[in-house]
Amino acid sequence: MLLFQHTSPPIDALQFAFLAEKKIQLHVLRLDAIHLEISGNKWYKLKEYLKEATQLNKKTIVTFGGAYSNHIAATAAACNQFHFESLGIIRGEKPALLSPTLLDAQNYGMKLFFISRKEYDHIKTNPGLIPGYDDNWYVINEGGYGVIGMHGAASILQFKGFDKYTHICTAVGTGTTMAGLISASEIKQQIIGISVLKNNFQLQKLIQHLVPFKNNYHLVHDYCFGGYAKKTVELMNFINMWYQQTNIPTDFVYTGKLFYAINDMIKKSFFKNGSVVLIVHSGGLQGNRSLTEGTLIF
Ligand SMILES: *Cc1c(COP(=O)(O)O)cnc(C)c1O
Repeated sequence: MLLFQHTSPPIDALQFAFLAEKKIQLHVLRLDAIHLEISGNKWYKLKEYLKEATQLNKKTIVTFGGAYSNHIAATAAACNQFHFESLGIIRGEKPALLSPTLLDAQNYGMKLFFISRKEYDHIKTNPGLIPGYDDNWYVINEGGYGVIGMHGAASILQFKGFDKYTHICTAVGTGTTMAGLISASEIKQQIIGISVLKNNFQLQKLIQHLVPFKNNYHLVHDYCFGGYAKKTVELMNFINMWYQQTNIPTDFVYTGKLFYAINDMIKKSFFKNGSVVLIVHSGGLQGNRSLTEGTLIF
């Protein structure tokens, strides 16, 4: 397992005729390959929070998410591995059948607390209102948003040769991962963020709040495919086609939209000839378990 070694994640170099034509190099940083459960960017965000929780002698980690949340999945697995108790505040009433994500979380020892969608939005910003709230809890924001998560995400770029990339591309939810990439980047590099939420124009501010002194980035709002966790036939076809052609599996909530966008932007000449582009594959494959069986070919 790469997780506890100081080994860099693998990087794939893609070969397509349209890349050669434009003299564009396209590489993929495979954070999906670091760990089966604590996958992708979620691990990078979490590790600094867990470090602080340890320093503060906290025993219980509390966080928030939906029934298929990658953040809940990663937090439960990491807490199990590092011997924290964990509590997941889950958006929506308790269903008759738990999702595979929540079953896994439970198996890792996470206690689940379900809360109506309306109350969820209120409680996630006021954790003191959670029934049984305890000062000894260590509360992590939904999606791991925050400066500490950003510092963790910055270490995604701690590998030899990261400075050769002209562009570094990532999927964007809370913006924490993108802020980490921005903070770790050199000013000559551009960080491209593909937002997976519909018209989430407050992202700019959220990112600015985390990295106030840099503006070498660009947010793209054109590839959300209808909104968060929404999908179209075109997106699903792309995900299958992409897997066939590159052997890289993606998820339909984040990375499928990211790869679709970058592929499209290259074809539409967003990137100058000679660009050296890195796509950060942020993992999230476990979320595909919400799809009807047979939708994907992997
Ligand atoms: C959570 C997540 C993101 C978004 O990360 P943020 O730091 O919230 O912007 C991107 N990709 C995957 C696979 C994720 O699970």
